[in-house]
Amino acid sequence: MLDKIVIANRGEIALRILRACREMGIKTVAVHSTADTNLKHVLLADETVCIGPPSSTESYLDMPAIISAAEVTDAVGIHPGYGFLSENADFAERVETSGFTFIGPKADSIRLMGDKVSAIRAMKAAGVPCVPGSDGPLGDDADENLRLARDIGYPIIIKASGGGGGRGMRVVHAEASLLAAITVTKAEARSAFGNDTVYMEKFLEHPRHVEFQVMADGQGNAIHLGERDCSMQRRHQKVIEEAPAPGISEEQRNRIGKRCVDACLEIGYRSAGTFEFLYENGEFYFIEMNTRLQVEHPVTEMVTGVDIVREQLNIASGRKLSFKQEDIRIQGHAIECRINAEDPKTFMPSPGLITLMHSPGGPGIRVDSHIYSGYKVPPYYDSMIGKLIAHGYNREAAFGRMRNALSEIVIEGIRTNVPLHQEIFQHAAFQAGGTDIHYLEKRLGLA
Ligand code: ADP
Repeated sequence: MLDKIVIANRGEIALRILRACREMGIKTVAVHSTADTNLKHVLLADETVCIGPPSSTESYLDMPAIISAAEVTDAVGIHPGYGFLSENADFAERVETSGFTFIGPKADSIRLMGDKVSAIRAMKAAGVPCVPGSDGPLGDDADENLRLARDIGYPIIIKASGGGGGRGMRVVHAEASLLAAITVTKAEARSAFGNDTVYMEKFLEHPRHVEFQVMADGQGNAIHLGERDCSMQRRHQKVIEEAPAPGISEEQRNRIGKRCVDACLEIGYRSAGTFEFLYENGEFYFIEMNTRLQVEHPVTEMVTGVDIVREQLNIASGRKLSFKQEDIRIQGHAIECRINAEDPKTFMPSPGLITLMHSPGGPGIRVDSHIYSGYKVPPYYDSMIGKLIAHGYNREAAFGRMRNALSEIVIEGIRTNVPLHQEIFQHAAFQAGGTDIHYLEKRLGLA
């Protein structure tokens, strides 16, 4: 078993990883910026190393600083969490060539899946259903591109192969604007991602976002843990996630889940991963794979009983998966609200001192958060300050518990999006289930 690891992240996910390590008897090293000396996991870690000033580029994204921290503390592994360096193939490679274990997939898998064109190719080869599209990068032949789009049918979307975070995409509704859109997306992709490869896909107009959680040990074993619905989004950022996805049948879950598992085995995948799909009119369309732990992993943990971080640590220690597919049962329903330090109406970030924090409780309530009374939310990072998760024996029960939790939680001193969540949980359409990815923006009058 890994003896000591560096947690190369901050906030709630660093605390989540620290908790798993402590349960398993793994010693922890918290690396942090000068703005983060009061983070809960920094206060709880066995050792701490300050790796730089507040700016992420000079701290949480500074590869040599993180690897040096592992060296000076005699750690053996590095967990990247999500965001920051978690999907950086060069980092994964440097960690391993420096003699440490990267607690995640192999660098090659991150590279393969980080490039959307190569990811789609690999997925198609493995039998995963993809969005009808150009089947590779667009060339310079205008007539050929016009013909491709006509065959796919408008509207279409031009996407940068190296894109991420909802950037590098452009929707085209009619032929007249196609060629200009390709030129502009290419130019943007070149400057934003240093790679001007773009491709074309059918633009789905009312999809839901449904994703499958997988785990693989890189030793020939892989399983899926069912799916999550993350359609409640604003600006491509997930706001609420739930598992299982409303209306997805066991047959669909097994069929698509099996395809994801086969794809993992095909590419020799290791650790946790997520296959993201758009779901429309009963069909699944793969859009990308996230080669890391995700923010919303707790809803899957609540309905399957699998501790995903613990499994990641086991796998990184060279152990085989502790579960077989037939051991996995979906029990009840779980839902997660992302709590952000932001104005619930304008969405402006609201950092500052938390004068009072009171956690909700009761059966089926889980709070994954690093904040506490007296903690000061720094202005330098993502505004998410925690996640509220409710589990119940069915969707209605989970909703009831979440409503209670949202009414009990107290965070004073800063503004949070708790009032927004309280409001969404009153929406009849959301209660009915199956709202699409545009629903929230429409309801907020933003679309
Ligand atoms: P990123 O890596 O930037 O997150 P994705 O490929 O995951 O890019 O797409 C981000 C979002 O863009 C999706 O969640 C969806 O809302 C929208 N999108 C992407 N491809 C399509 C498509 N073919 N049709 C409709 N919407 C799409």
